Amino acid sequence: MAAINPSDLYLVDELFSEEERSVRDAVLKWVRARFLPLIEEHYEAGTFPLEVVPELGELGVFGATLPEEYGCAAVSATAYGLINQALEYGDSGLRSFVSVQSGLVMYPIFRYGSEEQRRRWLPLLASGERVGCFGLTEPNHGSNPGGMETRARPVDGGYLLNGAKAWITNGCLADVAVVWAKVGDGDGKSIRGFLVEKGMTGFATAEYRKKLSLRASVTSELFFKDVFVPTENVLPGVEGLRGPLSCLNQARYGIAWGAVGAAQFCYEAALRYGRERTQFDRPIAGFQLQQLKLSEMATALTRMQLIAWRLGQLKGEDRATPVMISLAKRDNVFQARRIARTAREIHGAMGIMLESQVMRHANNLESVYTYEGTHDVHHLILGEAITGLPAYS
Ligand SMILES: Cc1cc2nc3c(=O)[nH]c(=O)nc-3n(C[C@H](O)[C@H](O)[C@H](O)COP(=O)(O)OP(=O)(O)OC[C@H]3O[C@@H](n4cnc5c(N)ncnc54)[C@H](O)[C@@H]3O)c2cc1C
Repeated sequence: MAAINPSDLYLVDELFSEEERSVRDAVLKWVRARFLPLIEEHYEAGTFPLEVVPELGELGVFGATLPEEYGCAAVSATAYGLINQALEYGDSGLRSFVSVQSGLVMYPIFRYGSEEQRRRWLPLLASGERVGCFGLTEPNHGSNPGGMETRARPVDGGYLLNGAKAWITNGCLADVAVVWAKVGDGDGKSIRGFLVEKGMTGFATAEYRKKLSLRASVTSELFFKDVFVPTENVLPGVEGLRGPLSCLNQARYGIAWGAVGAAQFCYEAALRYGRERTQFDRPIAGFQLQQLKLSEMATALTRMQLIAWRLGQLKGEDRATPVMISLAKRDNVFQARRIARTAREIHGAMGIMLESQVMRHANNLESVYTYEGTHDVHHLILGEAITGLPAYS
């Protein structure tokens, strides 16, 4: 029997172009050599290793699908997916940093911004000289962002922003926040995107400490008290909830791929440990019960890889619908979460230790399961698509 690659049982690697593979391999090499040695210390301290941000810029991972004229790498949708996979092999917090900067900050500026906004922000965000965040969720409005209370009141030369945003990745770190607010007292149609800059009077942030998940990622609250945002900082190209939802689609796409990386890391760790650890005078991977777990993990990983690959093809052809992306985000994260927990089981007591890494991934995936549309909400999106009957309220 020919030797198999246990992490690629369906030879999915062959489905990628040489260029896509080389982009992925460069990021994976960096993750292994540079990021993995840092993560334990930062995870324990609850900090993000900011020193890697310029290196990520050099690797070309920020806004990687956007045009070169804005300092971006202009890679294919699939290559961007593989970048996310390689980053989340390291840590979901690392992938979150890049997803937010790329899909939730650079994408809306590129897609809905003025040419002046693009030229001002995109090259700096691409190089990592500036960091961005995305403010949609509020303390009272998570799964239902259309209910947002943050208001932008038109005044001479701009708007006065009042309200608060909750659970914002990179909030305290950000030089620019893409904030979604309702203009006046109108309905969902009046939602607009505002580029709120660090240092604007009345804009404050506070970091959530004591998180048990995504510890190596900064999560913050944003507060706006009569923050004057000039008209030139409003995204001119979009109005309504479709603005933020289209950004979430970009980020969810990256998550569907990223989950493959976290799952692969945990599966490989479990396989390695299962071969090395002996009990009753044999490697534990030789017991039927452990093989059942490992074979289920391998099957789930294969399915995840195929879903991500097909989604990448469709996205590259501009045919990936929000429902397809939703399906992939929900199921790949669900499978990754199961794989990470099973890897923890296979490690026995060692599995609860930071050094075995698998519980770090398992804990991270709790956040990934909840953000960018909870697992339940993605069931509702798919449910509506296949039945024609919305069941949100
Ligand atoms: C680490 C982290 C980082 C984040 N980063 C960002 C960010 O950068 N920017 C941003 O804007 N937001 C961010 N979020 C917020 C995230 O998107 C929200 O947490 C998510 O949308 C869920 O909202 P909620 O937590 O208020 O839960 P809720 O909406 O209150 O939901 C609570 C529970 O009820 C369920 N539920 C809700 N509605 C329904 C329904 N109609 N039918 C059935 N069940 C339902 C949910 O599935 C969930 O299980 C982040 C969250 C985390 C944890």
